[in-house]
Amino acid sequence: MKYSEVAKTYQELENTTKKLEKTNILAKLLKKTGTQDLASVIILCLGRIFPLWDDRVIGVASNLMKKTVSTTAGEAEKTIEKMWVQKGDLGLVAEELAKNKKQQTLTTQTLTVQKVIENLQKITGITGKGAVDKKLSLISELLTSATPIEAKYIVRTALGELRMGVGEAQVRDAIIQAFFPTIVGHQLFCPRCKTIIPRNHKKCPLCQAELPVKKLEQEIKLVLDNVQKQKILMHKKWKHLKNQKNDFIMTDDFNLEKHDLRTINFIIPETREQAKKLQEKINKKVQTAYDKTIDFGEVALTVKEKGWKGLEETSLSVGRPIKVMLAERVADIKEAFKKIGVPAAFETKYDGFRMQLHKKGNEIKLFTRRMDDITEQFPEIAERFSKAVNEKEVILDAEVVGYDPKTNQPLPFQKISRRIKRKYDIQEMIREIPVRTFAFDIFQLNGKTLLKKRFEDRRKLLEKTVKPIKNEFELAEQKILSTEKQVQDFLNQKLGEGQEGLIGKKLDAPYQPGKRVGHMIKLKVEMETLDLIIVGAQWGEGKRSNWLSSFELACRSEQGELLAIGKMGTGLTDEQFKTMTKTLKSLIIGEQGKNVKVKPEIVVEVAYQEIQKSPTYSSGLALRFPRMVRFRETKSVEDADTLKRINKLYKQQKMVFG
Ligand code: ATP
Repeated sequence: MKYSEVAKTYQELENTTKKLEKTNILAKLLKKTGTQDLASVIILCLGRIFPLWDDRVIGVASNLMKKTVSTTAGEAEKTIEKMWVQKGDLGLVAEELAKNKKQQTLTTQTLTVQKVIENLQKITGITGKGAVDKKLSLISELLTSATPIEAKYIVRTALGELRMGVGEAQVRDAIIQAFFPTIVGHQLFCPRCKTIIPRNHKKCPLCQAELPVKKLEQEIKLVLDNVQKQKILMHKKWKHLKNQKNDFIMTDDFNLEKHDLRTINFIIPETREQAKKLQEKINKKVQTAYDKTIDFGEVALTVKEKGWKGLEETSLSVGRPIKVMLAERVADIKEAFKKIGVPAAFETKYDGFRMQLHKKGNEIKLFTRRMDDITEQFPEIAERFSKAVNEKEVILDAEVVGYDPKTNQPLPFQKISRRIKRKYDIQEMIREIPVRTFAFDIFQLNGKTLLKKRFEDRRKLLEKTVKPIKNEFELAEQKILSTEKQVQDFLNQKLGEGQEGLIGKKLDAPYQPGKRVGHMIKLKVEMETLDLIIVGAQWGEGKRSNWLSSFELACRSEQGELLAIGKMGTGLTDEQFKTMTKTLKSLIIGEQGKNVKVKPEIVVEVAYQEIQKSPTYSSGLALRFPRMVRFRETKSVEDADTLKRINKLYKQQKMVFG
């Protein structure tokens, strides 16, 4: 397929903000795309060059693009810069220059979709010496052959800035529109422009044709009057509406599995309810295939080549992450039971980060919730996973928690996030921030996709599959509970251990990738943050000996007295520690050993897990696990929180969590 077809579609997409119109435009393109280009066209329309599960990104920075545009057009970089400032978009600059370009040489080729995607994909793998020149020449090769419009979109795609307003929902609906029959009664077929319109419209939103349709029979007539040579699966009830222009299959059996939907253009069921159900069934089928593959290109290709049956055969692939199921927040235990039923499974809510673990033979891959490959950053988890799981092929869902090697206490997420990003000195990081893995679900076992199984059955399989390694690779602690008191006790116990709360799970629920459907709820104590004053600090140890690293926090009494409420040593980035030290040093008013007293000037926003009674501090209260959220530069000491408010929060917390 010529790339110009895709570029033309981009232009049409850019000219409308209406979602439905975008779906129609995309569906039109997909219908005329050959099998060979289908996957690439879909990926390009999503503004990507790899499917969503693949975390490789296009490695073109705007400066390199500026250089490439300049070299290709034979214009000075200064000129390009000026144009860039004027137009605000390098794509528009490339378009303008392509318009002015002198007669093309004979070697100019027509760009194909394959050529564009191939060159852009190649760029991703280029590193090391000469990388810049190689990348430049790959894009330049495309730009030399591009028409002005093509140039604009090649530049934007390479920069990762296509922004067509095309999301997963539009692509899914476009695939359905392009490769499945139109269901009359649920979707309306515009008699003038022949696109699909949802039934609640009175006018076609595209061509403004009137749609004077109320009864289903009128709607069917409208379709039949306007189409010919179509294959139509029609309910026997509408026999009297048949005409000579089309090819009818009369039936009262709308079991979709029985028909090759690829050869049918319209389905005319008995009632609107039936129409709605059929449409929902199709939507769900396509969505489920996508949830398993995370690749609309593959889904479209499967539909086109193998139809309904093909979709049924799609499965999870080890090594390719899926989107994880999300938890719904509930206000209290009563609501939790309402959502997930009685009895339900309750698990410790570990405060770390979500990890998906894939194993195929000896090969292990680890992914974040956003599907980034982090196998290299966590070699110890890969090793433990291998030891704990003997099966050939497995995919697990888990939480990874960082622990303080000295105190054995869980570390806040901010700490462990350093490990996710770190690509060097991995061994040092393993020692500095050791982690534990808590597996809580299983998606795939030796080629079998388990997403549709009940949670309690998946858990049983998980228990059979994982041989726990203490403090290294364990199963999430779980209890099956049926009373509010039992849950309250479990929750209190977990909060006491420094965990975030509980996750409740519906025993008979399937796994719904990427959804917040209430099969899983979170019960956590997340208190409102406080603005507190720093009144003292302590010099750190070891690597932190040059920093003030533990900060004494105070609130105000109604009379303006400062009352201590705890010590905070976490939540700060290295940068913030440095800033804090520098600022507090100038405010020191007294020193005793490692401890300093400071003039009360700095106000910080503090998050915490719980407020407790405490005889240690002058406020009579203490914050459990306080952590810094941010500096409150705009707040003065007079604006900090009062003991009265904190006491009120303490009472509220008792009301919710006993
Ligand atoms: P959300 O994930 O709901 O978008 P969030 O990122 O703030 O919001 P939380 O509010 O902390 O997450 O709650 C859900 C998260 O809890 C899960 O995504 C998972 O990472 C984590 N988690 C910890 N323990 C468990 C467990 N036993 N079962 C499932 N998830 C758990």
